[in-house]
Amino acid sequence: MQDIRWSTFWFLVLEIFIYLILSSIFNQKIAIIFVLATLLIFIVLHIFWIHKLNKWIESPSLKNLPNGTGIWENIFAKLYRTYRQQKKSQTQLTTTLDQFNQAAEAINDGIIAVNEDNEILWSNKKAQKMFNINRKKDYNQPISYIFRNTDLSSYLLKEDYEKSINIHNPTNKIDIEIKATFFGDNHKLITCRDLTLLNKAENLRKDFVSNFSHELKTPLTVISGFLETLEDQKTIDAESKKIISLMSKQAFRMKKLIDDLLLLSNVESDYLRNRSEKIIIKDMFRKIKTEVTLVNQEKHNIIYSINNEINIYGSISEVYSAFMNILTNAIRYSGDAGEIKVSWNKINNDAIFEVTDNGIGIPEDHLTRITERFYRVDEDRSRESGGTGLGLSIVKNVMSQHQGDVRIASELNTGSSFKLIFPSERIYTK
Ligand code: ADP
Repeated sequence: MQDIRWSTFWFLVLEIFIYLILSSIFNQKIAIIFVLATLLIFIVLHIFWIHKLNKWIESPSLKNLPNGTGIWENIFAKLYRTYRQQKKSQTQLTTTLDQFNQAAEAINDGIIAVNEDNEILWSNKKAQKMFNINRKKDYNQPISYIFRNTDLSSYLLKEDYEKSINIHNPTNKIDIEIKATFFGDNHKLITCRDLTLLNKAENLRKDFVSNFSHELKTPLTVISGFLETLEDQKTIDAESKKIISLMSKQAFRMKKLIDDLLLLSNVESDYLRNRSEKIIIKDMFRKIKTEVTLVNQEKHNIIYSINNEINIYGSISEVYSAFMNILTNAIRYSGDAGEIKVSWNKINNDAIFEVTDNGIGIPEDHLTRITERFYRVDEDRSRESGGTGLGLSIVKNVMSQHQGDVRIASELNTGSSFKLIFPSERIYTK
């Protein structure tokens, strides 16, 4: 810009100078004609280069950029440099975008980017296949229009993305795990994992455990029966009696293990189970108290605080075994004369079963794993007290089948508190 102004300034100075010289040598008329002629040439020259620039802008390329003369040489040189720089950045951007696209396609999961209104901005091929997304038609449309699923819609609306959800696509018959995260300006990235194979393998495992346990049950019952008969025989010497009693004890443990395995596989299965029975809490706790008295043998002080008005819908047998597991654990993991508090009440609209003991407690680093199958803090203590290591895993599954939750708080050598929380939808009052 500076150059143009200076060159124009010097051109005008030169014109005045020439005008003065010519008018003194010849006359004023000749001087004016000369000045006007050079001015015209000056303007025509600029119009010519403006025309060239205009043509170049219509189809810009490095090859056909004019060289220009005078000030225009400078302008075109600057234009050349800027254009080349821009091209370079564009190439870099395209390469990065290509790499991003390749990386997104290489990921095994489907990925969908949506804006704050949950309209699809972008998706990789796996997601397009999972949800039948058409890139041309469906982009900028709300995801709930493309794939109608109430769970997915409410998950995206709630904007609580700590946990993932599982949904089913009936069109291509696949189970999908969905997890969303925020990015950029209130946009969301939705990761979708195809669970079909995983579920198949899991079902195979469950079927195997269930069939295997069923098959073992009959021979084990026969063996236990014979061992019991042998134990009662008067003709058997003391040494053999000791061995048979040991065998009988182990057979009993195996039977308990198989019973728990069968119970667990039943609880894990979604079908053929009525989880909407009317559970009358008063009746259930009457049964629990009788059973607990047998287990406890009056060693512990058990204090009940039961609100009989709060009844729930659920599977009677499953809820009973969950409550019993928590209660017998409190007895087994508390020293003699321990105090155990059992309560059933409505808190913040949820129905809560809580058992608090002042027993051995659980170290903090074990708390997150305690509900896993066969996870024990102290294996010997668990076995000695007749545990199978499956109790809390049964409880966790029962609660998840009832849309509930298990909360555990514990302090080593101080005691533990187990809460089984049933959502308000499960509560009914007589
Ligand atoms: P187990 O048959 O071994 O008791 P569970 O699944 O019922 O199996 O419990 C898992 C583990 O959690 C137990 O082995 C024990 O270490 C711990 N645990 C459960 N309940 C209590 C409790 N009330 N106090 C202390 N530890 C407990």
